[in-house]
Amino acid sequence: MDIISVMDDSLSNKIAAGEVVERPASIVKELVENSIDAHSTSIEIALEEAGLTSIRVTDNGKGMSRHDAVLAFERHATSKISNEHDLFRIKTLGFRGEALASIASVSKISLWTSDGETEGTKVQIDGGVVLDQSDAAFRKGTDMTIAQLFYNTPARLKYMKTIQTELGHTIDLVNRLALSHPHIAFKLSHHSQLILQTTGSGDQRRVLNDIYGMAVARKMVPFSGENADFKVNGFITLPEMTRASKNYMTLIVNGRWVKSYAVNQAVLDGMHTYLPIGRYPIAVINVESDPFLTDVNVHPSKQHIRISKEGELLSIIKSAVRDAVKLSIIVPNAVKKE
Ligand code: ADP
Ligand code: MG
Repeated sequence: MDIISVMDDSLSNKIAAGEVVERPASIVKELVENSIDAHSTSIEIALEEAGLTSIRVTDNGKGMSRHDAVLAFERHATSKISNEHDLFRIKTLGFRGEALASIASVSKISLWTSDGETEGTKVQIDGGVVLDQSDAAFRKGTDMTIAQLFYNTPARLKYMKTIQTELGHTIDLVNRLALSHPHIAFKLSHHSQLILQTTGSGDQRRVLNDIYGMAVARKMVPFSGENADFKVNGFITLPEMTRASKNYMTLIVNGRWVKSYAVNQAVLDGMHTYLPIGRYPIAVINVESDPFLTDVNVHPSKQHIRISKEGELLSIIKSAVRDAVKLSIIVPNAVKKE
């Protein structure tokens, strides 16, 4: 007896959504990454009930044509890669063409967009079904609202933590996206209350200031190092200003915030004996390399990457951090003694 059938799109999108759309913060991540890929210089994120009721992302990027505004919600629809060659040289944050299809399958979406060439478009999609597509006057850019997240997947909705916890995840995420893109002005608000605002000046230390406050940002010291394959730079707090969690270390590889246990460890090794036990620095580590040396196609959430020659990168980071910390700790004392 034949018992196998191919799933319809609606079902397969919901299954895919399980991997990318874990919580409101994951949606904010996908939407903001799309805004960044669209070359926006200003991105506003407005949340209601930590995003469970509504997530609105407004950008001034390149927008979409009327045709693309609907196609964008199809699975595997992307403007970012078109062949295997592209897959090994990814320069954009997105490339899977899956996020919008997944998000649309578990929420109600209203989209306003315009590419500046034609009149704007308005699209309404509920649970992945296009209810309306019409002309609507809109300036160049995109404005997308995700309402009633998980309204049709109650089991997932039940797993949401408190508003404070979900909001915490999103704030943490937006902080890191803002750090990764100091040239973009970010604004995050919750129930109209402003949470984070950056200026888009391009100065990463200024973003550190916006996130952690002046007292912390002023105390961070710069570090840098490079070889033929990697260029590393960043800022780190000295041992006198540490936190009880590793969560304040942000690694940015070619403009993408990623998580790496190995890089965190290299930073800690660099600080070595200076660090009190159980304490961790606040740090941002920027790495630039040929995209060919990194593989982001590891997991749908794109939070982990594989790095060729990782050992070399780790030793650059370790010595850059060590030199910067040593210099800042030892030199001031040496000067005082003279
Ligand atoms: P991916 O980002 O992997 O291409 P998505 O499902 O996130 O897949 O988005 C599909 C497509 O929709 C993108 O490739 C892009 O062309 C378009 N798009 C989505 N968001 C925006 C935006 N804010 N501005 C311009 N285009 C967008
Ligand atoms: Mg995307």
